[in-house]
Amino acid sequence: MSNCAVVGINWGDEGKGRMVDLLTEEYDIVVRYQGGGNAGHTVVNEYGTFALHLLPSGIFRKGVMNVLGNGVAVDPENLWTEIGDCAAKGVAVTPENLMISSRASLLMPWHRELDALEEQRLKDKKFGSTKQGIAPFYSDKFQKKTIMAGELFQPEKLRERLKDLMEWKNLTLTEVYNAKPTTMDDIDAWLKGCCEKIKPYIGDTMQYLRKAQAEGKRILFEAQLGALRDIDFGIWPYTTSSNTTAAYAPVGAGCPGVKVDEVIGIAKAYSTCVGEGPFVSEMFGTEAEKLREAGAEYGAKTGRPRRVGALDLVATRYGVQCQAATALALTKLDVLSGMDSIPVCTAYRVDGATTEDFPFPSDLDRAEPVLTTVPGWQCDISGIRKWEDLPEAARNYIDMIEQAVGCPVKYISVGPERDACIIKE
Ligand code: GDP
Repeated sequence: MSNCAVVGINWGDEGKGRMVDLLTEEYDIVVRYQGGGNAGHTVVNEYGTFALHLLPSGIFRKGVMNVLGNGVAVDPENLWTEIGDCAAKGVAVTPENLMISSRASLLMPWHRELDALEEQRLKDKKFGSTKQGIAPFYSDKFQKKTIMAGELFQPEKLRERLKDLMEWKNLTLTEVYNAKPTTMDDIDAWLKGCCEKIKPYIGDTMQYLRKAQAEGKRILFEAQLGALRDIDFGIWPYTTSSNTTAAYAPVGAGCPGVKVDEVIGIAKAYSTCVGEGPFVSEMFGTEAEKLREAGAEYGAKTGRPRRVGALDLVATRYGVQCQAATALALTKLDVLSGMDSIPVCTAYRVDGATTEDFPFPSDLDRAEPVLTTVPGWQCDISGIRKWEDLPEAARNYIDMIEQAVGCPVKYISVGPERDACIIKE
């Protein structure tokens, strides 16, 4: 039996959804263990094109159980909408294939509202939040000011708790932001409108996963965003509000004793970064525009143009270390086809000194990229399915990455479709 975590090595948007969709063939259970509806995992398969925000990417596989662990910010409203969107495209999401941890906290409508109000207040100092309420949600969770999904089964006690939370939250809404207070009518509408609907999915994921593990079932842990957005190890404060690292998977999944045997780190063949924060190998002008167009680099959640840059070996090596990756999946290699030479960032220069180590977050804005170029390839590689059929320059590019970051590349993705992938033995 072997469990596996599929995690981001960089700033997110590496193509995790696409890889999980492919890898689920070998797994019985897919668990999202952190983050919330700010994810945008794009999956292209026989049902169409999906941008999954909360649902685990195993939802398309028959016989696969999908779990939203206790580490996830479960937004009942958006989750119910997403379930409906999937159903409209022929993908049934029922308690047979989705289970929500009774210990997962629920994201309240005021979390989204507060997220937007705070970004508005920060003006040009904003964090570039997707305004899904994630930061206010996790702050409240750690203040013990959220409710757990399992509390929905004790309506009377719950209403009392929600009333207290609402009164406390209204102080912030009205006195800090001068916004409209939430009423108990709003809360009742929320409880009736979406919370009631997700109740049949709620269960004890700890016991479920323990039993599954004992029966030898294979578990895949699906992360959101990437190592550089981890709240402890990322580009603070431009991180997300949860741990995106594989080490957190057992806790966030709801089964602290479960083992992660393999960690597949997803890295993109070039760099992209959505939102604010330092991005050392960023490219600008027409060169950047061309890469953005070629890679269709626009946010799955917001449609925002992503910042693009040269493959950053310093950040990628650090990402591999944070994730303790045992293998890499390199995505979007096809996007680089046709370039005469490919820019690569091999080191940083900080205050006149060259380093290959990823700097402390507050030193990053002084870091400059040390760039080199490597030969590109001219042919279309999107139809290639075997390592030996790749042009030599593409193979050299991958060899160089393996050596620089100290991790083998096992999968090479050359297109968004499920089968557009090369397995390097
Ligand atoms: P995630 O959040 O890590 O799942 O990544 P996103 O879904 O936000 O972004 C990845 C984007 O790249 C999606 O639009 C995918 O369909 C697309 N994609 C993934 N792998 C490949 C690939 O190998 N080649 C190309 N051309 N597109 C890919």
